Order: sequence, then C-alpha cells, then structure tokens
Amino acid sequence: MNLPTTRTPPVHAAMSQWQWQHGELRVGNTPVSRLAARVGQTPFYAYSRELLQARVAQLRAVLPAAVKLHYAMKANPMPAVVQHMATLVEGIDVASAGELKVALDAGANPAEISFAGPGKRDPELVQAVAAGVLVNVESLRELPVLAAASQALGLPARVAVRVNPDFELKGSGMKMGGGPKQFGVDVDVVPELLNFAAREGLAFEGFHLYAGSQNLRAESICEAQQKSYELALRLAQLAHTPVKFLNLGGGFGIPYFPGEQRLDLAPIGANLAALSERAQAELPQAHIVIELGRYLVGEAGVYIARVVDRKVSRGQVYLVTDGGLHHALAASGNFGQVVRKNYPVAVAWRAAGAAGAEEREAASVVGPLCTPLDLLGDRMELPVAQVGDLVAVFQSGAYGPSASPQGFLGHPACVEVLV
Ligand SMILES: *Cc1c(COP(=O)(O)O)cnc(C)c1O
Repeated sequence: MNLPTTRTPPVHAAMSQWQWQHGELRVGNTPVSRLAARVGQTPFYAYSRELLQARVAQLRAVLPAAVKLHYAMKANPMPAVVQHMATLVEGIDVASAGELKVALDAGANPAEISFAGPGKRDPELVQAVAAGVLVNVESLRELPVLAAASQALGLPARVAVRVNPDFELKGSGMKMGGGPKQFGVDVDVVPELLNFAAREGLAFEGFHLYAGSQNLRAESICEAQQKSYELALRLAQLAHTPVKFLNLGGGFGIPYFPGEQRLDLAPIGANLAALSERAQAELPQAHIVIELGRYLVGEAGVYIARVVDRKVSRGQVYLVTDGGLHHALAASGNFGQVVRKNYPVAVAWRAAGAAGAEEREAASVVGPLCTPLDLLGDRMELPVAQVGDLVAVFQSGAYGPSASPQGFLGHPACVEVLV
C-alpha cells in the first residue's frame, strides 16, 4: 500500500491501527463511503482481513511454536471470518452444533475442532461424534450419550474433560471459573468421569480449563495459566491414558475504554514457553492449546452507521443514527458492562467533505430504538457532524450482531462484510 495515508490523532489506541485519508476512514483499501455504497446500505459491520492476519502474526511472534492457537468462534461467527481464521490458526472452538456446522463448512480440520458448552443436547453430541471433533465434556450426563453414539456410528468418541478450575482469573470482565459455576465439572467429579470414559471405551484426550474473559493484566493471565497447568498435571495422574490435549484457556482482553492499556504479550509468551518446556517432560504427549475469541477479532471490526437526524435537546446535541443496540448491544453498554462507558467512536466520513472537520462539539450518538438504552456514545467530543455523515464504532469485531437483539423493534437485519 503506497497511499499517502494519515492517521487520526491518537484519541484511542484502537483507532491508530486504522488508516485514514483526507479525514475519511478506510477499511482494507476502501474508503468507508465507497464501502457503504458497495454494501448498499447502512448500518453495517466491516471486518478487515489484513488486521485479522496482523493480529495472529503478532501472537505468533511471541508464542512458543509448540503452543496451538484456537479461535473461539462465538466471538464472531460470520462464515467468511471463520473461513479466514481457519487458514490462520490451528483449530476452531465451537459452542453449539450450529457453530460446528459453520466451522466444518469453512473447511476447518475436524481433528482440531473442539466443542464446549454447559448444555449440549443429545443430538448435538451425536453430531460431534459423527463429525469426529473433540468434545469438552462438562457433565457426567454427556458420557452415556457419547458412548451410545460411538457404538451406533462405529466411530471413536473423542473427549476431553472441562474442569471448573478451583481458582479464578483475577481482574476479568467475565469470570468463568472459581466457585460454583455451570461450566465444566468440579475437580472432585473428575475421577468418576475418567473412570466412566475408560470403562465405556471413550477416547480420552485431555483437559480443558477456562478461567475467564476480557483480561488486560498479563500477570493475571500468566497466573491462571500456571495454575491451570498444575491442576491438569495433578488430574493427569488419575487418567487411564496419556494426556494429548491440554487447553489452558485464554481470556486475553482488548482495550475498549479511555485509559485502558493493551495487553502485554511478552510475559505471556515467556510463561507459555516455560510451561510448554515442562510439558515436554511431564506430559510428553500433550499439545498445549490456547483459545482466543475477542482478542483475535475484536480490534479488526468497525460498526458503521449513518446520521439520520441531528437534534438538540436542552443544549445537548444528539446524532441519531440508523445503527444501534439491536446490532451493537456490547457497544451500547448492555452486554456485561457494570458501569456504562463509551466504546471508541469517530466521525468516519463527512458528506460535505473534510472542510471544517476541526470544529468539534460534545455530542451523543444514539440509535433509532425507542429506549434510552440505545446509546452508542454518551456526550463524546466529536467533529461537528450532519445528517448523511458516517459514524464508526471501533473495537466492534467481537460480540457484534450475533450477540445483539436484532429482532427488537423490527429494524432491518444487520449486514456484515469482510474486506
Ligand atoms: C467465550 C469463550 C471463549 C472466548 O472468550 P473471549 O473473551 O472472546 O476470548 C473461549 N473459550 C470458552 C470456553 C468460552 O466460553
């Protein structure tokens, strides 16, 4: 790319990886106004192939070669994204038979697909055995179903035990371990599970531990990985066959809000290198896997909406856009935020051109829904925007349309493009 591109002022670390030209955001090599015309409508999500690739490359640069990288596709299940990711990572983690279908259609290798989730229905378990993927067992109930499917199909039922860790991932946006949880099985249930699997001829492959999500503290992630490894090592002694698969989880976060710093990958890479060296001696047949969702895709996506009205209420400016929480629940602050904060938002293109772009004002960016929850940016300092301009919500590549109530209020469904 030899374009004379400029970058936005570093308002937020998230924006600095995107390119701008003459005050207009570009996705891949395409100006966002042209992309909107190509898509044929606003609002839409745009994901960048180039940024997805760059993110995986950054990780590869610090992870030991022996550690396998899996993409947890619930973060962004768009088929084209999954297909692209399947060419970049070793495996795909799915959480339903629906996701399993998308992963298989995308060409992911079934040997490197794993299936986790607390309420797998019987037909989903049968589908997993038929597909030849690894099932992360989360309940004793799943075992006889898997054994019967294995018998009926004449195929091995590949299983790993998802263990509810007896510790938590400190400082996580969402905790998924430590204390009572619906995920995995408690440590004291593992022996019974392993015995059942051995007795019924299930193909035991290893352990899956997942302690939490959206963490920006490298030391917390290292600590959780260390503890996960130690726990797996103890449990491996109870297994009847060697551990071949050891999923140490993920939880890598991305910066969304002012003041948040990017996760420091170097210590995590060093820690995993040390663990993988230990594993060579202590669990010689095991592959260490980490599974990441948000970290791989979150920063590679923007949500683009058009200003359809500009209103002033008691002195406060409202930019009313055609996009909102029905497509972008997380950006509206209603998907797991305790105190609402603004995602990074920018004016991505001005219908009148860049002239006057330096003029700024405090404005709230809202959606078209009849609820005060439909807020994309609360009193943000933005260039003065008019009807017809395009607004971008950054850090929108993960937990977007598939995690939003699209049917709410009957607006058009969301469109996604991979550029
Ligand atoms: C949700 C989930 C992930 C992905 O979490 P991110 O925060 O998007 O990285 C990975 N593994 C399991 C088991 C999950 O439930």
